[in-house]
Amino acid sequence: MKEERLTKGLVQVYTGNGKGKTSAAFGLALRAVGRGLKVYIIQFIKGGFDYGELYAIKKLPNLKLKAFGHGRFITEKPPKEDDIRSAKKALDLARDIIESGEYDIVILDEINVALALELIKVQDVVDLAKGKPEHVELILTGRNVPQKIIDVADLVTEMREVKHPFKQGVPPRKGIEF
Ligand code: ATP
Ligand code: MG
Repeated sequence: MKEERLTKGLVQVYTGNGKGKTSAAFGLALRAVGRGLKVYIIQFIKGGFDYGELYAIKKLPNLKLKAFGHGRFITEKPPKEDDIRSAKKALDLARDIIESGEYDIVILDEINVALALELIKVQDVVDLAKGKPEHVELILTGRNVPQKIIDVADLVTEMREVKHPFKQGVPPRKGIEF
């Protein structure tokens, strides 16, 4: 496939409490690799979980993924030292990948949650978004995005929960929720 480049990359945010943030980011990744763009997905807080997308992406060229975290949901504040450490590692990798300019699209899945939990600093992500190479598109997903991230973004979509089967007691389904 011919190698393509974006001329102008933007900053996108998918947030809100409704379903579809991570799915939207992966849908975008699929579209992009179909056009010969290179995509790198870094997942915060998600290491150790078994998601369907991890198997699917192995079959696609130009799509890389690395997950950080410890296989459990974090709710507590102040956060644990090892959760902070993995989030920092994820952010360090994100910085390297973005600054290298080698990937057209960099998806930081659940980074907004890492920011809301204060695992990493909002200012560090603002600086990263402002200093990114021109042709790199940055996608930031997760609930509770801080206002300062909205301020630097070009596109912000809020998924709003109108209904979710979880509330009716339907457990997460393989291939749909994970
Ligand atoms: P998805 O990964 O399905 O696109 P998401 O990224 O928007 O969802 P997250 O906030 O990352 O949602 O949620 C983590 C998990 O909880 C996912 O398995 C997701 O499908 C599920 N989920 C999403 N929204 C809700 C909701 N409103 N109530 C219950 N579970 C939800
Ligand atoms: Mg998600």
